[in-house]
Amino acid sequence: MYLGDYIVIEQQLGPFTFAGESVSTGTPFIAGIDEDKRHLFADRTFPDQHPTACRFLRPDGDLIRCTIHRDSPAQCKFYRCVVMRVSDMAGNSIGVVTGTLSLHSDDPDLRTAWEEAERTRPKHEDPAEKWLATFLQAKGYRVE
Ligand code: SF4
Repeated sequence: MYLGDYIVIEQQLGPFTFAGESVSTGTPFIAGIDEDKRHLFADRTFPDQHPTACRFLRPDGDLIRCTIHRDSPAQCKFYRCVVMRVSDMAGNSIGVVTGTLSLHSDDPDLRTAWEEAERTRPKHEDPAEKWLATFLQAKGYRVE
């Protein structure tokens, strides 16, 4: 939501193709809007209302999506905003885990379970995401 100054569009090369730059690293990139997200990208309401957001970001129902997922710059792929979505047994979304393996949730029970997971996770366990997801599933949470 705040990367509009860092991921910029330099030039439109075609109806759904853009030359851009990752400003912080000075890295140019060419991106095509993902075919299944072109209808989302074509609606400019969101970027008009959110001038600080990356120009490639668009709402899609309850989600906010990158419309150049296939061609997004390396730093975006590396960052991985969300690596896990956690829901309760009724399917209500109650938290997300970011690429730095930080839980963002207001649910006290989930926060307690996450603290337990962090305390007990074997440090040699790799990949950590899989272990953490299995831990939460064993506690009755749904993890995507
Ligand atoms: S992941 Fe996509 S929407 Fe997010 S900053 Fe990168 S290019 Fe923009």
